[in-house]
Amino acid sequence: MTRIKLYNTRSRQIEEIIPENPDGILRIYCCGPTVYNYAHIGNFRTFLLQDVLRRLLIATGYSVKFVRNLTDVDDKTIRGAQKENISLQNFTEKWTHIFHRDCEELNILDADVEPKAAGHIGEQIAMIETLIRKKHAYIAPDGSVYFRLSSFPSYGKLSRIDLGKLTTQSENSSGQANLADEYDRDSVQDFALWKAYKPEDGDVFWKSPWGKGRPGWHIECSAMSVKYLGETIDIHGGGIDLCFPHHENEIAQTECATGNPFVRHWFHSEHLQVEGQKMSKSLGNLFTLADLKNRGYAPETVRYALISGHYRQILNFTLSGLDAAQSALNKLKIKIKNLHKNSEFTGNEDEIFSSKNITYRHFNGAIEALENDLNIPKCLGEIFSVLNGDATGGELFLEELYFLCFILGIEKFIFSKNRDRESVEIPEDIAELAARRWEAKRNKNFAESDRLRQSLSEKGWNVVDHREAYDLYQQ
Ligand code: AMP
Ligand code: ZN
Repeated sequence: MTRIKLYNTRSRQIEEIIPENPDGILRIYCCGPTVYNYAHIGNFRTFLLQDVLRRLLIATGYSVKFVRNLTDVDDKTIRGAQKENISLQNFTEKWTHIFHRDCEELNILDADVEPKAAGHIGEQIAMIETLIRKKHAYIAPDGSVYFRLSSFPSYGKLSRIDLGKLTTQSENSSGQANLADEYDRDSVQDFALWKAYKPEDGDVFWKSPWGKGRPGWHIECSAMSVKYLGETIDIHGGGIDLCFPHHENEIAQTECATGNPFVRHWFHSEHLQVEGQKMSKSLGNLFTLADLKNRGYAPETVRYALISGHYRQILNFTLSGLDAAQSALNKLKIKIKNLHKNSEFTGNEDEIFSSKNITYRHFNGAIEALENDLNIPKCLGEIFSVLNGDATGGELFLEELYFLCFILGIEKFIFSKNRDRESVEIPEDIAELAARRWEAKRNKNFAESDRLRQSLSEKGWNVVDHREAYDLYQQ
């Protein structure tokens, strides 16, 4: 089995990924979306990078159990349901469905388990009871329960936060502090495990030993991670914003409840910016997958663009970057199609999932880049440099490429099985002309796109446009 190396936020070092459990199964937990609206492309950058990591682990011979939760009870979901005057469950089911549809279009593999916070209230209450019993938590006069930060001296080691400067804790997934009830806490640094019922919660509450209320945001991940993966997990993932306070709080709750180390390896991905700025609705630069599809971009283009930067660096998303991603993907597809022509090769996912671990001879540079701290940009560069050389194809060559495309999650697009079209070789100058025409058309430069279509036709090629892509046919 290949050993994958990955930066660990906890140690600040690149470390080998080795499953701890004797059953050899690598246990991964990733914080999932809050299902109250469309996930934006920043969220998807994080989910896609986690997906590539998971695919890399699978394709290099690890067995993986992957859990990603759904946050379906918090201030944002409760407010959203009230606004639409529907039950919390109906509201979050609607957004969960949309999230799943986006994931499918972006070719993100389904999680092995996708637990919902509202479906695990009992587990969360049980963990809070343990924390109270062990004196790591206390009940406030209003019936809320708080974690006692001073009872866990190693608090803050993951993010290396200066506790002296920590004044209060954000209490929900939108990062807002709950200043109103600060006087109920022993220390303002303590964070909520259970929130006593307030009239603005409407019909959203559960019974608990401390009265009616709902869980705080952080406890859901601790309770569901322990339930589905055990007390110690191998990898925990999330966007860098979750490092503090969410992940610090997850560590504190879980380790105090179980007495065991919670996470061996922390995998945080940097944020996405749009045109050099933080994404926000008010700046009008917050894109969803649906927005980009409306502008004519295919989901695989969005996927390619979002994974193409190194996960530990901020990615600056631009529409011109998306155009470049589209050209790169088309180039890759045509190059592979042309190689494919001489081969019987059809990609086979079963081989990957049966842990067939291939030896890379042609693309060892590309796979090594991924094995060494998930360097996707370097991997893409290596793939193109081999394809731009005098690549001749052949079974093994294509098998390696298929595995790499699977890891990047573009295998369905690149190895699509249209026999008629596969049997025709597309010369590179034709492919280039066609790509320029498509770009001109998308930029609404119709005179130029017509001119290029004419030029293709004179060379014996017809173009057929679809909503998000085009095909080339020889006359
Ligand atoms: P949320 O739905 O807000 O709980 O976020 C879901 C995931 O998206 C978390 O792992 C966040 O850290 C991540 N995330 C939020 N904003 C961004 C962004 N601009 N770029 C990358 N990841 C993000
Ligand atoms: Zn979490």
